[in-house]
Amino acid sequence: MMAAISAARLGADVTVLEHMDRIGKKILSTGNGKCNYTNRKQGFRCYRSENPAFVLPSLQQFGFEETVAFFKSLGIVPKERNGYFYPASGQASSVLDVLRMELRRLNVTIQTNCAVAFVRKHRQKFEIKAGNKIFVADKCIFACGGKAFPKSGSDGSAFCQIERLGHTFVSVVPALVQMRAKPSFFPSIAGIRTDAVIHLFVDEKEAGRDRGELQFTKEGVSGIPAFQVSRYAARAFEQKKKVCASLDLVPDFTDEELKRELTGRFFRQDQKTAEEALIGFFPKKLIPVLLKENEISLHIAAADISKDKIKRLSHYLKHMTFELTGTEGFDKAQTCAGGVSTAEIHADTMESSIVSGLYFAGEVIDVDGICGGYNLQWAWSSGYVAGTHAARN
Ligand SMILES: Cc1cc2nc3c(=O)[nH]c(=O)nc-3n(C[C@H](O)[C@H](O)[C@H](O)COP(=O)(O)OP(=O)(O)OC[C@H]3O[C@@H](n4cnc5c(N)ncnc54)[C@H](O)[C@@H]3O)c2cc1C
Repeated sequence: MMAAISAARLGADVTVLEHMDRIGKKILSTGNGKCNYTNRKQGFRCYRSENPAFVLPSLQQFGFEETVAFFKSLGIVPKERNGYFYPASGQASSVLDVLRMELRRLNVTIQTNCAVAFVRKHRQKFEIKAGNKIFVADKCIFACGGKAFPKSGSDGSAFCQIERLGHTFVSVVPALVQMRAKPSFFPSIAGIRTDAVIHLFVDEKEAGRDRGELQFTKEGVSGIPAFQVSRYAARAFEQKKKVCASLDLVPDFTDEELKRELTGRFFRQDQKTAEEALIGFFPKKLIPVLLKENEISLHIAAADISKDKIKRLSHYLKHMTFELTGTEGFDKAQTCAGGVSTAEIHADTMESSIVSGLYFAGEVIDVDGICGGYNLQWAWSSGYVAGTHAARN
């Protein structure tokens, strides 16, 4: 949609081919239905790819400021929360509505229920077989998304067309997704949310870390910090590597401070059981697991917990380490890692370096953003660049 608007604003005659019954379906699910459409904090560290610096020329041409101004001009009043931007209406549908209205104003033709089945370049023109028609165009932009959340339409069905045109893909794996853990105690702590740092280890080397509200699920870990590191886990599982997570459940305490705090706490509350003495420090449902994992009886008097056990518990709380067995699949992922290799796309125009006149935008490219509005920002930025340059050249 952004590519179509940008090209049409420069006078191009644009047709959007969409295989679903309507365009932009995924936008409706973004930001829990509120659409976190950009973030004030930008930089290539917010994007992951074989070549993260690839995003810079696009962000320079159409970055955060341009995005906010663009949506304001279409009617979206921005509402900022800690740098995260949402429409003031609190409705993702507003973002989709204003894009659709702008496409209508620019007379962009939208063909829905129209699956792209074949694309070839013939005598300087693109022939695109979609639905039961053949479309002929001077330029062609693939903005077909990745494989995440396929019920919204992005199912990777256009990937083979892109490969047929000579492009290669960095293999695509789920990202911003829940991870599954081995220990059997997860069902008993499902639903607990707690501030934590997650460290992800691949073959014992740290591959990523993040801090925020972590959520335990029946199967493993979720929440923004788990999402942020999940793409590294998914890639490692693809390569059959061993993946572990280590949680720091008390990030505001150093190891030494925590040991002192626990010793004092158990001493001061000597009339309580071990379980009771931890209430108020950790979520109640989590306490039995913390004690059992450290072989401390729930019912032992707090004063009777040995120094060694306190040391062990304290270490566990700072380094709760467990093996991960996988990530959830594309159906539950918010984005995917991998896509068309950035080595085959000109970063300043989004034009293919293999087929002239062919462009790419959005998640189909090997770029995935972290949580916080970066995936949509990438779609807007790369869409603007692809549409503008396709129309100009
Ligand atoms: C639940 C959820 C929440 C999210 N929340 C946020 C958020 O708050 N902020 C954020 O920045 N990002 C968020 N994202 C990620 C973001 O939505 C995507 O990265 C972004 O939509 C990608 O845009 P795109 O245009 O590249 O692809 P898509 O939005 O996936 O659009 C691709 C389009 O191409 C169509 N298509 C695919 N194949 C064909 C074919 N063969 N023929 C015809 N049409 C085809 C699809 O139907 C689809 O309409 C979220 C994602 C999910 C799933």
